[in-house]
Amino acid sequence: MARIQPPTPPYLGPAKYHGAGQTLKPCKRIVIHGTVSPCVPGGARAIARYFKTTVTRPSSAHYVIDPTEVVQVVGDHQVAYHAPPNTDTIGVEHCDPVSGPSSRWNDPAHQAMLKLSAQTVARLCLAFDVPIRHVTAVGLRLGRRGITGHYAVSLAWRQTSHTDPGAGFPWRRYIKAVKAEAAKLQGVVEAPVTPVPVLPPAHVQPCTMVMVTSNIKNNPDLPRPQVVHDIDAVRRLGGVLLWQEIAEQDDRDDLRKVCPDTEWEHVGLEQEVPLSFWRENWQVLDHGTELLHPGKAHVSPSRYVQWAKVQRKGSPEVPPVVVMNTHYVSGAFSHAGQLAEDWRDKMWNMAHAAQSTLVQRFLDQGLTVVGGGDFNRTGAWEGFAPGHRWLVHGGYDHLWTCEAPKGARVRLESTGTLGTDKLYTDHAARWAHITLLPLVEGVKR
Ligand SMILES: [Zn+2]
Repeated sequence: MARIQPPTPPYLGPAKYHGAGQTLKPCKRIVIHGTVSPCVPGGARAIARYFKTTVTRPSSAHYVIDPTEVVQVVGDHQVAYHAPPNTDTIGVEHCDPVSGPSSRWNDPAHQAMLKLSAQTVARLCLAFDVPIRHVTAVGLRLGRRGITGHYAVSLAWRQTSHTDPGAGFPWRRYIKAVKAEAAKLQGVVEAPVTPVPVLPPAHVQPCTMVMVTSNIKNNPDLPRPQVVHDIDAVRRLGGVLLWQEIAEQDDRDDLRKVCPDTEWEHVGLEQEVPLSFWRENWQVLDHGTELLHPGKAHVSPSRYVQWAKVQRKGSPEVPPVVVMNTHYVSGAFSHAGQLAEDWRDKMWNMAHAAQSTLVQRFLDQGLTVVGGGDFNRTGAWEGFAPGHRWLVHGGYDHLWTCEAPKGARVRLESTGTLGTDKLYTDHAARWAHITLLPLVEGVKR
């Protein structure tokens, strides 16, 4: 499991003005600022000195960045006075005049600064579980978490009039850079993002399965229309749907409303990780639920694995396969103060061992297993049994397969992502389009 620590640049604090401790659990937003000073080497230290000594205005930020250096002036777990409301936020200053042509963001000094910034902010996002996405003023008002600008905080709450980092800030390029740095930190290769074919499942060809993993995150609860929106977007992607965090009755009600029982067979609706099969393509032969670990009181709920043995209708030559869905122990609370806790590792190991046993049981019965789930950044897992292959690997949600020696073969056709820019949940939905083939002796797949 990758444990990403917050950045540790030179500490030049404390700032003269800073507040009490903050929990950062969850961190609400990372706020991008411009300093109204030149983008030059030494600029960050100059601003740090200002925050340390200013007597005119109570202002400070956690990090200051110039083309050659990142410095810290306020500890992550203390409130800095950068863009009120300041509780549970982190402020990142960039040495920039906040005026002049937008093209200045392309000059070598700004490019170097943005690279340092992307590295720093990627670390912050992973350490404090902040979704890597640009949140505008409207999003802030809706309670969305992510990366934002001072301008948006001003618009959302009207407690300041600042407009930094200014209209020219290259948000799209910047968020992309933060994502790339985050992927590097996690040591995983992001699945290629391909355009989502938003097709009804009827377009699925014989012998194929389009499986989709989606975490309809409800902590904090999304408003119901947003949950419905996300379920509807996910259902359009495929015919085998692996849900996580369908945790409460209203989630189940919404799932059945959007995916009615007449068209979809739902299994395991009582356990947070249900599976939905499009009836026209899939016959459920058997299904079950097993406890992977018992959870920890007040921190992490118990977690289950849901499985179903299914047959592709219209393709009798293909043996049945088992579809498996899980949600590993939550990483939502893995901020700096809790990273070293042993219980989380123990539960991850418990879950992994229990799931490996279950996978092996099906393999022994000659059943190929395909699966997925929210792995909460446990991208380092080796897999569950001999023959394991990741189909979609990286980020929060993964898809995988384990072929039984005499079971169905799995040919991966394509993978894709429905990003958080198109969903309200802070998990991207990932899908894999596979073809199931009967084992033909002597033929290499
Ligand atoms: Zn600002």
